[in-house]
Amino acid sequence: MPLISPNKPYRIGRSKTGLGLFATRPIKKGAKIIRYFGPLLDSKKEKDDAVENKYLFELTNRWTIDGSIRANVARYINHACKPNAESDVKPRKRKVFIRAIKDIEPGEEISYDYGTDYFKAYLKPIGCKCEACERKRRKKRAEARAEQLLAKEKAERKAKRKAEKLATGRKANGKKLNGKTKRGNGRLANGHAGP
Ligand SMILES: [Zn+2]
Repeated sequence: MPLISPNKPYRIGRSKTGLGLFATRPIKKGAKIIRYFGPLLDSKKEKDDAVENKYLFELTNRWTIDGSIRANVARYINHACKPNAESDVKPRKRKVFIRAIKDIEPGEEISYDYGTDYFKAYLKPIGCKCEACERKRRKKRAEARAEQLLAKEKAERKAKRKAEKLATGRKANGKKLNGKTKRGNGRLANGHAGP
């Protein structure tokens, strides 16, 4: 059984961080894209509470979807801090749909925000690889490079000024030395001129 039927507007493909879900047709803003589904875990049952994986989707305090099953194609959707889709949670129906929050073009990767709990547990320790965060990192790196260059130029200017000062200082010292020599000669002359 194929994982995705050809009339769906998405396909699984290679993304920067592994696999991802990509639009194969234009998806309108607001459109339901795919359901996130799997066995329901009940936090009141001890054995359910023991399930631990990256695909758990907490619906309510009590109910969690275990989305780790293969048939749940929505599990391929990657996190993004500035996503083009969102998780639309229907707690009473115990259902989750991934819905477009922007018009999505064919070829574009579909993403939604996994939420702060997931971010803190899984993404922050390794650094979020989403487009927005990569862009931020690139900008920071460029700014750091520009700052380094400025600091280097400043240091070079300072070194040049110091060298110039030293050069003029040496000239001035030379004059002073000549003066001292003259005065020394004078003193010597005075000594001779003593009683
Ligand atoms: Zn991010």
